[in-house]
Amino acid sequence: MSNESLDRFANAKLHRLTAHGLRRSVVDTQRTDAVHIRRGGRDLLSFCCNDYLGLTHHPAVKAAAAEAVEAYGAGAGASRLITGNHDLYGVLESKLATLKGTEAACVFGSGYMANSGILPALAGPGDLIIIDALGHASMHMGARASRAEIKTFRHNDPDDLAELLDDCRGSFGTCLVVTEGVFSMDGDRAPLDRLATVAADHDAWLMVDDAHGFGVLGGGRGSAWEFDPHPDIPLQMGTLSKAAGVYGAFLCASAPVIDLMKNRARSLVFTTGLPPSVIASCIAAVDIIATDADRVAQPLNRAKDFCHAVGLPVPESSIVPLVVGAEQAAIDASVALEDAGFLVTPIRPPTVPAGTSRLRFTFTAEHTPAQVSALAAAVNALSLTTAGAQVVGG
Ligand SMILES: *Cc1c(COP(=O)(O)O)cnc(C)c1O
Repeated sequence: MSNESLDRFANAKLHRLTAHGLRRSVVDTQRTDAVHIRRGGRDLLSFCCNDYLGLTHHPAVKAAAAEAVEAYGAGAGASRLITGNHDLYGVLESKLATLKGTEAACVFGSGYMANSGILPALAGPGDLIIIDALGHASMHMGARASRAEIKTFRHNDPDDLAELLDDCRGSFGTCLVVTEGVFSMDGDRAPLDRLATVAADHDAWLMVDDAHGFGVLGGGRGSAWEFDPHPDIPLQMGTLSKAAGVYGAFLCASAPVIDLMKNRARSLVFTTGLPPSVIASCIAAVDIIATDADRVAQPLNRAKDFCHAVGLPVPESSIVPLVVGAEQAAIDASVALEDAGFLVTPIRPPTVPAGTSRLRFTFTAEHTPAQVSALAAAVNALSLTTAGAQVVGG
């Protein structure tokens, strides 16, 4: 068979991953409500979903999808530029722009697709993209696709960024500085005020991927609104799959930038529009984010309760890392917590640097204080925090 060489290739790659302890597998998991999951016949309390506001199972968000399927059908039928631009898109985009205080917004298929498409629409050969050293894989995907020069600056270090720009800004055409509002593996926040100033001083455009800040920080509007006054960020990207609980992503920006995206972002032009039911659910979710301040405040409150109970520093977001160091130590701790009924994923290389394997906890509006206390007791019983564990980033 001619496919034998293909299977040999795949198996050799898989064996190498196994040998390095990096082989992964997907596990059937049913999320029975916002915080419980069923896996392998067991019910566990999850502290590793990104559903920060519990909106995946919210009655209004689910009802919006069901109604839209009846009214619009199951799929968009074509790309947005052909016939896939059902009127729910415009409703969602204007709500997002209003919430973020920008002229316009543009919805993409996912966060990964947004980052893959936005960067090449704004930079090309001869241009420069500078990314925070801990930036998400999707940023690098977009940067590489742009064929611009790619550099990284030291994590959350505006001085390092300024030095880089002083050295080389003059040699390039357009320049983009790209960072996250909240870093997904460390839960720390970017110094967006100082980054915005450095970028503006060097004629560079700042883009913030606020996947983990939108809906949780700044009263729901995102990480930039944690600063007073909030910095003027020309490119505000976020996803609708985490706090919003659905799927899709957005860029909020000026009207010409958004118009350019609809013309030139290849991950928008050459892909089918999102199903109307998805957009309808996103509209319901954004309405909740814009109006339910109590719910929006809860994830960070729960994270603070947990950190207080286990003796970690005050968290900056709803993501709390507990670095245990060795990969096996992280796996052992995760297994022990699972035995106690809690699902907490160990995060290992290559997702994080070697020697910083960790437990990563995420807290949501639907976790009760009692559930958080029970988790803290189980973590304290591991006596990890006194056994060489450390926090990074914060
Ligand atoms: C999750 C995530 C993405 C990808 O978003 P999806 O909508 O899941 O594709 C992009 N950037 C960051 C920082 C993320 O955490």
